[in-house]
Amino acid sequence: MKSKKCIVVKSYKSDYPNPLKLIKGAKLKTFKRKSPWKGWIFCEDKNGVKGWVPKSYLQISKNKAVLLKNYDATELTVKHGEILKTKLKESGWFLCEYNAQFGWIPEKNVVTIDEYDRPVIDGIIVDLEKITSTKYKCDPNTCKDTGSCCSYYEITFKGNESENFIGLLGDASKFSKHIKPSKNFDNIFDENEDDTITIDHDKNGTCKLAYKNENGCVLCSLHSVSLKHNLKPFKHKPSNCSLFPLALSEDKTPVLSIQEDALRFPCTNLKKKKDGKISKEIKEIIIDLYGKGFLRKLEICLEK
Ligand code: SF4
Repeated sequence: MKSKKCIVVKSYKSDYPNPLKLIKGAKLKTFKRKSPWKGWIFCEDKNGVKGWVPKSYLQISKNKAVLLKNYDATELTVKHGEILKTKLKESGWFLCEYNAQFGWIPEKNVVTIDEYDRPVIDGIIVDLEKITSTKYKCDPNTCKDTGSCCSYYEITFKGNESENFIGLLGDASKFSKHIKPSKNFDNIFDENEDDTITIDHDKNGTCKLAYKNENGCVLCSLHSVSLKHNLKPFKHKPSNCSLFPLALSEDKTPVLSIQEDALRFPCTNLKKKKDGKISKEIKEIIIDLYGKGFLRKLEICLEK
């Protein structure tokens, strides 16, 4: 594994002041003990020292094992915000270097930083540079003359996402005349070969789930129906819509960044001065879609 910088996002205190330190060929006793970490076996060496050993380091026969490579079970005690270097990854843990010391720490307590200096949080690369440079405030009044995002992007979602809003479409048809319950809604959706679904546009290029209110503002019928029923709109719209002006790429490790062309809309602007902070409205989107824990990890990375 290539060594990577990582940031501690949750302090960790070692539970083992007397860790196993073993050399290849050491003979161990193994115990059946439940662990929250898959792939680790609780062992005892010939001196009576006990601790967890990666299963992949052991040749096991009944309740005995032989160690296949040198192993040191030392764990790190580190505070959130500290910067480490990962050396290897093993069944939910990283072996890291910190102040010329080596030790293990749970993977969930750290965020790794990729080669472009972007944090990788819960399997998502976050383009903090773009996100912290952008401010956003949704106000349909500001886009009624310049065109709205619902008239610009083609919205595609995974088939199973429709469960989040299919039950609202009947009510949504009272807002958008394009929604026809009698046709089983099949005039507004196009199924794609890869099991995704695209929302149709009307002749003006606007999403068929959108409608204009009395002031000429383009609004989302799913959003309006959610508010009418006291539901959270972000849970009842296609996720790509709830994310705007953020966007998640379709890469193997997806990248969370600012949607391409978002700056063409009056709601989304570059900050005049970079302050290295995430704006309040973008924070709310991140909490809605990924949770407070995700945002907290991002903020610890930003402090560094
Ligand atoms: S689903 Fe709603 S938010 Fe998304 S493009 Fe259509 S009208 Fe706009």
